Amino acid sequence: MRELRNYIDGKFMNSERKFDVSNPVNGKPHAVACEADQATVDDAVAAANKALAGEWGQMSVAQRCEILCKVADKIEERFDDFLQAEVADTGKPHSLASHIDIPRGAANFRVFANSIGSFATECFEMDTPDGSGAINYSLRKPLGVIGVISPWNLPLLLMTWKVAPALACGNTVVVKPSEETPSTATLLAEVMDEVGMPAGVFNLVHGFGPDSAGEFLTKHKDISAITFTGETSTGKAIMRAASENVKPLSFELGGKNPGIVFEDANFDDAVEGIGRAIFANTGQVCLATERVYVERSIFDNFVHALKEKAESLELGWPDEERTNFGPLVSKAHQQKVLSYYRLAVSEGANVITGGGVPKFSDERDQGFYVEPTIWTGLSEEAKCVKEEIFGPVCHIAPFDTEQEVIKLANASEYGLASSVWTTNLARGHRVAKALESGTNWVNCWFLRDLRTPFGGTKMSGIGREGGVHSLNFYSEPVNICVKL
Ligand code: NAD
Repeated sequence: MRELRNYIDGKFMNSERKFDVSNPVNGKPHAVACEADQATVDDAVAAANKALAGEWGQMSVAQRCEILCKVADKIEERFDDFLQAEVADTGKPHSLASHIDIPRGAANFRVFANSIGSFATECFEMDTPDGSGAINYSLRKPLGVIGVISPWNLPLLLMTWKVAPALACGNTVVVKPSEETPSTATLLAEVMDEVGMPAGVFNLVHGFGPDSAGEFLTKHKDISAITFTGETSTGKAIMRAASENVKPLSFELGGKNPGIVFEDANFDDAVEGIGRAIFANTGQVCLATERVYVERSIFDNFVHALKEKAESLELGWPDEERTNFGPLVSKAHQQKVLSYYRLAVSEGANVITGGGVPKFSDERDQGFYVEPTIWTGLSEEAKCVKEEIFGPVCHIAPFDTEQEVIKLANASEYGLASSVWTTNLARGHRVAKALESGTNWVNCWFLRDLRTPFGGTKMSGIGREGGVHSLNFYSEPVNICVKL
């Protein structure tokens, strides 16, 4: 079994305590990770602070960009290693990881290496009492050591989405990947080593959340900021921990995202797009659609077409080309999703398809699969319509008017993403504007320009990532006032 070590001050470090990492396809451990204790996290934070004052802190922006582009090149050079590791940790189809997770992992470094050079600051001329005047200009400085805490659903993609802009701005990082998916973070440490990243700039600590590396990091007084993607309830715990030392936070949290289909939508495009939004990555995407609202005149046809789509998903082995649906990430998550499948029935759902565990008659029966599932008939107050499930499941409800569906879609404590399907251009703009989500798609889903603001309203997050929004978080302006 592969051993996943911590990476501190440019060295791979072992630990006394270890934990198994399982392959969700068959439930078998495929790697063992070294759990970082408090002293190890202290060492990582100290190394990151030391590196700020060393070679890294003296580098020009151009030199930093050059090394970040080398990281991107190296990820691409080791594409197959990253692919195998991501698939072993998550069970996701090769086709998905090779088109989204790994290329985006490399792209994140290139995007921020290319954008930092044109990150502009402000300048104000002012009058002074003696008439000579003064100029104010601001400079952007790195914050210092950034604590990066990432989830398991898109492990490399979401971790590098934070590490790349943090390093582009001149910070150093201590990364704590999810305990379920620590492999690609370890490969990234190898890449940092291989491209000659100065020691202490990228540090990696493995472990869990409470009473483990996650909490040790978020409570640490010597880090400067925390960037976190994960569950809203974890965000609350991190916010409490970070309040002790008053640290800035960037939060990308949960969602219960609506998809709205109007009668005038291109029907086939809407079925295809909404189907992908529900079932891609087995529903384990923060932007996934779990609430679908369909105009009453096409409701029955839409439910029927989406059922066919769900039943046509291919639950093959990850490396088979036809496979487009994998297991959930862990036994615990499988149990959580199945508990919602049971709850929906007790809340009065019509189960249109799915609702159970698929049978394979091979070792996948020990894996963490659930069936793609569709419900209708639930009240808008049902827990299954209110709470984030993070599985391959949706509830479909009919609506009659535009005003009504906007109200239904917005009646959520979350506000991460939404999609609207219509051929009426004015309506598309109007409804997208009225929805209380950070990202609103019209006639598409998951189309991402990495320069655009990304994040959630309400309980779905704090702040925005992407383009200058990330650069704003990972740097702080200082004003310089020069009397003329
Ligand atoms: P999670 O909150 O359980 O764990 C995320 C990370 O936080 C892990 O590394 C975990 O070890 C760590 N952690 C847990 N408790 C902690 C604590 N008390 N202190 C410090 N660290 C702690 O989330 P998950 O289950 O890995 O991911 C799924 C969730 O992430 C879903 O809610 C999903 O919506 C959300 N998510 C949001 C986005 C977004 O961009 N908004 C993207 C992906 C996933």
